[in-house]
Amino acid sequence: MEIKIEKATVLKEKPKKGEALGFGKIFTDHMFVMDYTEGKGWHDARIVPFQDITLSPASMVFHYGQEMFEGLKAYRGENNTARLFRPDMNAKRTNDTNDRLCIPQIPVEDFVDAVKAVVDIDRDWIPEEEGTSLYIRPFIIATDAFLGVAPSKTYKFIIILSPSGAYYASGLKPVGIWIEDEYVRAVKGGMGFAKTGGNYAASLKAQVKAHDDGYSQVLWLDGVERKYIEEVGAMNIFFKIDGKVLTPALNGSILPGITRNSVLKLCRDWGYEVEERKISVDELIEAQKNGKLEECWGTGTAAVISPVGKLRYVDDVMLINNEEIGELSKKLYDTITGIQLGKIEDENNWSVII
Ligand SMILES: *Cc1c(COP(=O)(O)O)cnc(C)c1O
Repeated sequence: MEIKIEKATVLKEKPKKGEALGFGKIFTDHMFVMDYTEGKGWHDARIVPFQDITLSPASMVFHYGQEMFEGLKAYRGENNTARLFRPDMNAKRTNDTNDRLCIPQIPVEDFVDAVKAVVDIDRDWIPEEEGTSLYIRPFIIATDAFLGVAPSKTYKFIIILSPSGAYYASGLKPVGIWIEDEYVRAVKGGMGFAKTGGNYAASLKAQVKAHDDGYSQVLWLDGVERKYIEEVGAMNIFFKIDGKVLTPALNGSILPGITRNSVLKLCRDWGYEVEERKISVDELIEAQKNGKLEECWGTGTAAVISPVGKLRYVDDVMLINNEEIGELSKKLYDTITGIQLGKIEDENNWSVII
């Protein structure tokens, strides 16, 4: 894939060292753009100055939500290198999402090359402080100006970059999670496994409710029986019960996280008994009552590992490990972030260096 580069003539002021970056609020000097037209395929790959885009108000994305997105990070490595973590997995997941949403496929190498090229040009934007990174947001929108319900014949694939602060400004602190018993996020046969905006639109109502009650995230139950654990807002969920590592099996309504996949690999390598299966809320409540619910943590690109100290379900509030971070959660966090930053050996060749 040939990428045309138009450099920004005026560069923005970068955040100062130590300045609070937050998440997803600051954008770099450039972005990647590529168009798709039926019959012609993906074309005109280019890097241009970060700018607004102009679309017809009839563009299909605004009406029926045909869109997808991805999320990954670049970390600052030694000697001004940029380090990506398993970007090929994001490329493959893009195509799984695209397939579900009738969006054309993008060759895995082209996706990865596009990410590398735009990170390369804006590498000076990768922040340095511990825990910070350059968040990479690839996304695709349907652009046909047409109000009929059908797959669009034209699309835009765009990648924007945002320097982001440490997820845990004050250390790795366990969070409280609200197990949602009223609303559901996704059902089997729907698009729960796809990374698409519609899943998030469906989640806002419960998220607001959980926040109002002082919980930071929602844990979803299955959409049919509302009995089995699925996943958290933007994270997969793990439990350590009686020495075993458990996570819900990928069943079509759960997003197949890359962090989830990495955690499974590490836990198996470390000799833990690992089970991917159905886990009911009743089983959790039971385990907690018997003192066997040892740890709980979420996994996702943003937080990497998010220890959970409290789970609420209807009238039950379950405290886990005294609301302190568990040993395995901490080891996973240290190992994965260590690999991402190039500080510990990367036996699985997960890092890609630019
Ligand atoms: C992105 C996402 C995750 C986490 O996936 P990672 O690849 O680990 O970042 C989990 N659940 C949902 C709903 C997501 O959108």
